[in-house]
Amino acid sequence: MDIKKDAKGWDILGDAHGCWLELSELMDKLGHRWEKSKGIHVPADGRRIVFVGDIMDRGPYSDTTYMYAKMMVESGHGIWVMGNHDNKCYRWAKGNSVVKSHGLDRTVRQFERAGYDNGKVAEFLKTLPWHLSLDGGKLVVVHAAWRDGLEAESPGVLRSWCLYAPCTGKTLPNGMPDRIDWVSQRQVTEASPWIVYGHQPYDEVRILNKTAGIDTGCVFGGKLTALRWPEMEIVQVPAKERYDEHPVLRGEEGQDG
Ligand code: MN
Repeated sequence: MDIKKDAKGWDILGDAHGCWLELSELMDKLGHRWEKSKGIHVPADGRRIVFVGDIMDRGPYSDTTYMYAKMMVESGHGIWVMGNHDNKCYRWAKGNSVVKSHGLDRTVRQFERAGYDNGKVAEFLKTLPWHLSLDGGKLVVVHAAWRDGLEAESPGVLRSWCLYAPCTGKTLPNGMPDRIDWVSQRQVTEASPWIVYGHQPYDEVRILNKTAGIDTGCVFGGKLTALRWPEMEIVQVPAKERYDEHPVLRGEEGQDG
């Protein structure tokens, strides 16, 4: 069965960042059945779960959240789109030299404590798609950003949009990269797909020009959001705690989100 096509609807979930308690609560609230023996939720009504990426880092339970999302994928109930944090974890797991910052340090400690095999982690994360086209092309799900025709671009361009969102190349006075507001610049027609993405935390779901930004900063004390497609219904649970401080507030450098 092609889970990209054969679903009656998709529940797209924003950046979880190790917030396992909120993620499981949100899945319950969406009406999906917890199957304790398998450690997964069986989606209700022939729906599928889509993780918009950034399953790990910063939060308290990246090990559990990783294993859960992996099992949702392997059981055929879920699709996990690669986020920049997932990609960095992949590069760490396969033995590359990466700076363990922006919460990866916490994930590494949790993975080691849980006894995860780095080789297996890398093998799995390598399989994650960078972008998805669902519902006959009416919906694109990507972690950071998308534009029409991007799939035909070079891997470098595709990677920078899908994982990080485009930047001008300049650096702002606070040390953050100068991001292009691709959402407000987007030109849409009747034929344009909807784009659902995460990466950039907003106080509320940002809907503009047939895009929906659904990272509502759970790990920063906000909310975890699900967007139901095609109903466009928003379901949320509040964060139980502020688990980390946003990098802009902390004055960290580099692209994160
Ligand atoms: Mn994120």
